[in-house]
Amino acid sequence: MSEKFAIGDEILEILKGSLSIRAGEFAALDAGVGDPFRVLVATIISQNTNERNTYLALDRLERVIGVDPPRLLSTGVEAIEKVIAVSGLQGQKARAIHEAARLVIERYNGDMKKLLELGEEKVRVELSSIRGIGDKTIDVLLAFSGFPVLPVDTHVKRVSRRLGLTNSSSYNGIKRDLHNVFRKEVRLLAHLLLIKLGREICKARAPLCSRCPLLSKCPSASLEQKTNVPTREGGE
Ligand code: SF4
Repeated sequence: MSEKFAIGDEILEILKGSLSIRAGEFAALDAGVGDPFRVLVATIISQNTNERNTYLALDRLERVIGVDPPRLLSTGVEAIEKVIAVSGLQGQKARAIHEAARLVIERYNGDMKKLLELGEEKVRVELSSIRGIGDKTIDVLLAFSGFPVLPVDTHVKRVSRRLGLTNSSSYNGIKRDLHNVFRKEVRLLAHLLLIKLGREICKARAPLCSRCPLLSKCPSASLEQKTNVPTREGGE
């Protein structure tokens, strides 16, 4: 076990023993590892909404139009927008999905795996040219496609700051620090388990520290116990 990753290894062992990841909890996960275009669409739909609405919108998109580049490109943006409306921000999301379908068809013969084969930097350059696809969405796609990336969502940000794994407030600063905590092979698992912890225990307004498996490791919990001040939020 490398010293550098000892804390990350320990945190993951504790979380693996306390939390489980079930079907129906992560749309990108259920969208299908091995089908990167579906993962990308699921992640775009999941922006600024909860998992329940993401599943509803994705299911509807699958039934009404189909989640594959040719069908999405031949269908107008407005139709996509209507179908995914339950997820909110549907105009922006529909345009991003439509543009992603166009990019994959026009430059990669309809196969997103061909883009992924060109490597992380090329994926970033290509997808970041589409409005509505940012760092987090690209990182989720990369992580679920086998790249050693730890995407930072609102839960990961809050929990990792409370745990003292990062002091940064910026997306890339937090990601850089977490990459120094969690070894490459476990970054996707770390992403999922930190989100689970954030959703169920380390909640934004009222963290349930007494039920937290990381209680003894967490500087924010001891601060809370000693001084009875609210747990620091970390600038969300
Ligand atoms: S001990 Fe409290 S603040 Fe620390 S990670 Fe657990 S729930 Fe969050």
